[in-house]
Amino acid sequence: MRCETAPSAPPPPAGPPPRFTQFVVKLHSRCNFGCPDCYVYEHRDDGWSTQPLVMGPTVMSRLSGRITEHLRRHRPPRAQVILHGGEPLLAPPATLEHFARRLRADCRGLATRIDLLVQTNASRLDHAFLEVFHRYGIRVGVSTDGTPESHDRRRPDRAGRGTHAEVTRALELLRTPRYRPLYGGLLCVVDITADPVATYEALLAHEPPTVDLLLPHATWQFPPPRSPDAPAAPYGRWLAAVFDRWFDAPRRETSVRLFDSLLDLHLGGTSSSEMWGPYGSDVVVIQPSGLIEYNDILKTVSAGAARSVLHIGAHDFDRAAADPGFAAERAGLAGLCAQCRSCPVVDICGGGLRAHRHHPDNGFDNPSCYCADLRFLIDHVRGRLTDGVTALRARLAGGGWSA
Ligand code: SF4
Ligand code: SF4
Repeated sequence: MRCETAPSAPPPPAGPPPRFTQFVVKLHSRCNFGCPDCYVYEHRDDGWSTQPLVMGPTVMSRLSGRITEHLRRHRPPRAQVILHGGEPLLAPPATLEHFARRLRADCRGLATRIDLLVQTNASRLDHAFLEVFHRYGIRVGVSTDGTPESHDRRRPDRAGRGTHAEVTRALELLRTPRYRPLYGGLLCVVDITADPVATYEALLAHEPPTVDLLLPHATWQFPPPRSPDAPAAPYGRWLAAVFDRWFDAPRRETSVRLFDSLLDLHLGGTSSSEMWGPYGSDVVVIQPSGLIEYNDILKTVSAGAARSVLHIGAHDFDRAAADPGFAAERAGLAGLCAQCRSCPVVDICGGGLRAHRHHPDNGFDNPSCYCADLRFLIDHVRGRLTDGVTALRARLAGGGWSA
């Protein structure tokens, strides 16, 4: 799927007990768009078809209680609750308000700061939704794919019509002064057939506080789209071109989480992007029926790869966190193949997203199917950073700047 959770991966605490800090709440199981490479509807898994359309009030109440008890027990400083789909805004504003009101009430007094987010294709985003988001402090992430041509080709509605114009209108509303503080950012999936700088500049036109660039979900069995005559590491090259445009801008125009995290990791910090770093994932997904699932991205691997046997009616999130499937998601460096463990950039790369390592012969015991692209981008960023530090040293040594 391309309208996915903007990935954010605060490093989990050292040692047990395991816990979650990202709760992806599937409020609605269907979507009004027909994106040809959506991994929920167009890849291997059709679990969505057996889910209720909308999460009902009983499941919402139970879920809110489960999240609250988990956070009360583990007291993480921050947690994210992401309202998601399908398209979550196919549910009426009152449904989103019901859940947000309940969660905010249940979580009152907790030590954890809860970031409430909604990830949407924005086709239904209007004053009614935004007033609910304003009341409950829900930030809005919007999925869009860059230039109008690229967006319309990759994100048509169910009738095959382009949706760029309506998404642009919704983003204009979101940028008005009353709602601007709710603007969480844009999420764009890399399209190597589109010009990288034109894509980035089309995103910038929406004045996003943050841009998330995601690689299309793929595995060794179902590799990323690329033409046979593409150069080596085409996704790495594409991202490197955007990096240069972003890094060389005379002022900081937006945050690009993928790049900020790469720079932070090179400088000894931590990553805020699930793409990088040796941490593993602490995401839990809750379907409209109350089923607990592993990271959604696993739907790109095979039918059922994201499914657990757990349900919020019977199992709390401590029980889920102890489940072997979630432990595998969380494994970090210990879960990597021998090639990754001996890789000189493993502390930065982390082997890429776990789903991208899958091969039918040996499961996840592989480097990422984007290995060459990840390495290309890491080396490129490291080179730019090294050049920058060398120039800074020379300038300081020459007395160009006073300390
Ligand atoms: S808009 Fe809908 S169809 Fe398109 S990627 Fe997102 S969930 Fe899938
Ligand atoms: S995926 Fe490739 S670049 Fe990344 S850690 Fe593994 S071997 Fe290294």
